[in-house]
Amino acid sequence: MSALLPGTATLGVLGGGQLGRMFVHAAQALGYRCIVLDPDAISPAGAVAEQHIRTDYLDSFGLAQLARDCDAITTEFENVPALALETLAGMRVVAPSGASVAVCQDRAVEKAHFEAAGVPCAPHAVITNDIELAAVDPALLPGILKTSRMGYDGKGQVRVSTAAELAAAWDDLKRVPCVLEQLLPLKAELSVLVARGADGQLVNYPVQQNLHRGGILAVTEVPARAVPADVQQQAVAAARQVAQALGYVGVLCIEFFWLEDGRLVVNEMAPRPHNSGHWTMNGANASQFELQVRALAGLPLPELRQHSASLMLNLLGDLWFSDEGGPTPPAWDRVLVLPGTHLHLYGKAEARHGRKMGHLNITADTPDAAHAVAVQAAAVLGLPADF
Ligand code: ADP
Ligand code: MG
Repeated sequence: MSALLPGTATLGVLGGGQLGRMFVHAAQALGYRCIVLDPDAISPAGAVAEQHIRTDYLDSFGLAQLARDCDAITTEFENVPALALETLAGMRVVAPSGASVAVCQDRAVEKAHFEAAGVPCAPHAVITNDIELAAVDPALLPGILKTSRMGYDGKGQVRVSTAAELAAAWDDLKRVPCVLEQLLPLKAELSVLVARGADGQLVNYPVQQNLHRGGILAVTEVPARAVPADVQQQAVAAARQVAQALGYVGVLCIEFFWLEDGRLVVNEMAPRPHNSGHWTMNGANASQFELQVRALAGLPLPELRQHSASLMLNLLGDLWFSDEGGPTPPAWDRVLVLPGTHLHLYGKAEARHGRKMGHLNITADTPDAAHAVAVQAAAVLGLPADF
């Protein structure tokens, strides 16, 4: 298949959130036109694309319009109905494929894929009925019960210690299909972003170390200073193996747990650019969004090079509510005076608690220097210095 040359083609995105917005920015920088399909009248990506189709993801007219007017289509989040991607696949190039997205949408299917690829994940059991519930191995407790589908940012998860708590938690989750995972002692959380082209070319960024607060990513640091080289190599090899085994095309993020005993297990994956890869916008020769554009357009992928030590702070809506009274924007001027700071805001009109409003990238010559600036920025913003 020949490449869609920059300046000649239109790219479509299902989903109008911040990931779609940063994809659109990268695509437009290369001279592509963009069309976003999102049901909301006001959306971060819809606001910057040349065109916004405002329909539901399964609306056949909306999908047909997107297919007619775009040369290639991608998705910004995995909970877009796989059916929408499959519908589009009959019409236009779609990367990642509906089949890959379907694997990532379901934790049980995803874990089976990891095991088939020979990459270990957390000990777990699938719970879809009372017989499976009763048969759960007590060794999995204490554990985390997670809905198989639609979970993100720690939503749809309950920690349970006993069989009785497990049964009650499953009732609370409306007895939808779930996965019970053993609660593992984590030393750190890591992720690896890979991109694979339609021709099979596979590239990856270095291992990213991630800190979560309340189930939401808070900080990403690259290089992952605390992680020994052999563990990093293992993570990169596992991520490449998973992408290869899926025959994946596009950007894929694989999350890992690095355990207290030094073992590495895979947690989950996302078939798209990922929050933990936002540092690449300022710390690498090409951003994860440019890679997604290139993979979608069938252009060659660049050899990746991290040119600066990087640290990313996620900016949640909570930062707008640090004082009494109504929401007020943080003191960006006092943040941007710090060396190597790069602010990215997503254009969301209203700040809300827990809402991802933007991120701050910090780049420096050394990891220590990036860390020192990040601590200063965190102090200005009122964020904890727990990283
Ligand atoms: P989400 O789709 O919401 O990101 P995850 O499965 O990644 O769901 O879980 C969110 C966070 O919960 C993880 O980043 C980790 O901090 C914690 N967590 C999840 N599973 C486990 C586990 N088996 N053991 C220990 N901590 C876990
Ligand atoms: Mg996760």
